[in-house]
Amino acid sequence: SVVVVGSINLDVVVSCERFPRPGDTVPGSAVSYGQGGKGANQARAAARAGASATFIGAVGDDDAADRVMSALSNDVHVRASRAPGQTGVALVTVDTHGENTIVVVPGANSLLTLSDEDRRVISASDVLLVQLEVPVPVVLDAARAAQQAGTTVMLNPSPVIDLPADLWPLIDVAVVNRAEAHALRSPLDGVGTVVTTVGADGAELRGPDGLVRADGIAVAVADTTGAGDAFAGMLAASWHLPPAERLARANAAGALATTISGAASAPTAADVDAFLRT
Ligand code: ADP
Repeated sequence: SVVVVGSINLDVVVSCERFPRPGDTVPGSAVSYGQGGKGANQARAAARAGASATFIGAVGDDDAADRVMSALSNDVHVRASRAPGQTGVALVTVDTHGENTIVVVPGANSLLTLSDEDRRVISASDVLLVQLEVPVPVVLDAARAAQQAGTTVMLNPSPVIDLPADLWPLIDVAVVNRAEAHALRSPLDGVGTVVTTVGADGAELRGPDGLVRADGIAVAVADTTGAGDAFAGMLAASWHLPPAERLARANAAGALATTISGAASAPTAADVDAFLRT
């Protein structure tokens, strides 16, 4: 089972031909509202990947809270606390090349704390997956509970921020894109397993048994939003498999996610099975 401690947002996504420059107004072709946040997305991705998945996070006391929680609870066991104020919001623009820009308002995500029951859920899970859209003390708290119980601690250090030195010894697996790998290269040296995603070029895993690579998969890209989250969720759900298989499944999940618009684009285990068979 996989437990994710992280962010949950209302995503407001608009499509446009080109991004506005400062002071510009550009026409958009569509707007959609959906559940987002790296934490919630990765929890959903892990569930779709076949894992029993629990999400621990915080929402506000507004209408957006019900909207994002009901969207997530179809797939995931949701343990969301209600904080006073607004649910997190992400304003996403996507251009015709599938590139995106994102402004995130953290809202309730910055008020998340763990309960004793949350720590028990973490202790009882196989893999804890965390990102950095919730306060670092919460990430530390979750990672400590996991390490004490022998739960594998997987960190996707996104967005990159300065992290306390005492977090790194708690991390078993880091999942980073190129920019994160570069920004964090010295602390990552001390992490047992580092999985680096390289966009259209695929991914690689450096672990105790050496280096494994997964080549990039040529797909018709609609929108790269959510590719990294689909990758991380599938990786966490596949952690019990041998390294080459974990990586191949995560890489296929990332590639398939780019063929679908929106952040909630993670494929199912069956989608990935079918894809890997062809
Ligand atoms: P992030 O979106 O977090 O920056 P990447 O861009 O490295 O991360 O993408 C994560 C994973 O998604 C890649 O390892 C790959 O599996 C898949 N992916 C992303 N972009 C593409 C693409 N253009 N073509 C095929 N696969 C892609």
